[in-house]
Amino acid sequence: MDLILFGPPGAGKGTQAQFLVETYGVPQVSTGDMLRAAVKAGTPLGVKAQEIMARGGLVSDDIVLGIVAERLAQDDCSSGFVLDGFPRTIPQADALDGILKQAGRAIDHVVSLEVDSEEIVKRLSGRRSCPSCGKGYHVVFDAPVKADVCDVCGTGLVQRADDQEDTVRNRLLVYEQQTAPLKEYYQSKQILCSIPGIGPIAEIQQRIAAALEK
Ligand code: ADP
Ligand code: ADP
Ligand code: ZN
Repeated sequence: MDLILFGPPGAGKGTQAQFLVETYGVPQVSTGDMLRAAVKAGTPLGVKAQEIMARGGLVSDDIVLGIVAERLAQDDCSSGFVLDGFPRTIPQADALDGILKQAGRAIDHVVSLEVDSEEIVKRLSGRRSCPSCGKGYHVVFDAPVKADVCDVCGTGLVQRADDQEDTVRNRLLVYEQQTAPLKEYYQSKQILCSIPGIGPIAEIQQRIAAALEK
């Protein structure tokens, strides 16, 4: 199953991707995670991406397409994947189509999580993640058993620098201008399924599962 999890920053893409990975046994492909890894490792690509990510802008299509093409060609993606945070522009979506077509594949579903800006600001200000295993949390809505410590591996949780409120506002603007138009793009291909993204995490999982089984 070749899936895209779509939605604004903080919509719950990463959270729901974890569930899809467990349910369908396909890997999560998160461009945000891959870019953050490149920044941390200080690779030439990471150096280029760092400043743009810090302001909440979009890294160039060329850079992002390079890492996605390489990732999707790996063996574990051969029977499906969940894309999280990609595509974010129409050129990225067109290029993804081309990459998949060459392999005789196509996106099966685009699951779009619908969440309003007020909720997004609340979610991102309380978002925390584990720098060691990558699991995501929220200080109120999805809190770890012990405050500030990862349930899975015991590492101290961290907050992303780009989750500061003014950067979040910029990311939302960029989303509206460059990424939201992809909804129409996929609607016209009849593979978009919109899911209300507000409510308990488990309930949203059920909505996604029900939509995918249809
Ligand atoms: P995205 O990957 O789309 O940016 P995340 O999955 O990281 O979003 O979620 C953003 C924040 O909101 C995290 O702190 C997460 O724990 C929290 N969150 C995710 N889903 C929900 C939900 N249904 N209700 C409340 N908070 C949620
Ligand atoms: P969120 O989970 O809040 O939606 P991500 O982790 O997906 O955020 O992305 C973090 C940052 O990485 C983005 O603000 C952007 O700078 C960069 N980024 C991630 N994916 C892409 C992409 N597909 N195209 C361009 N930039 C990207
Ligand atoms: Zn952990």
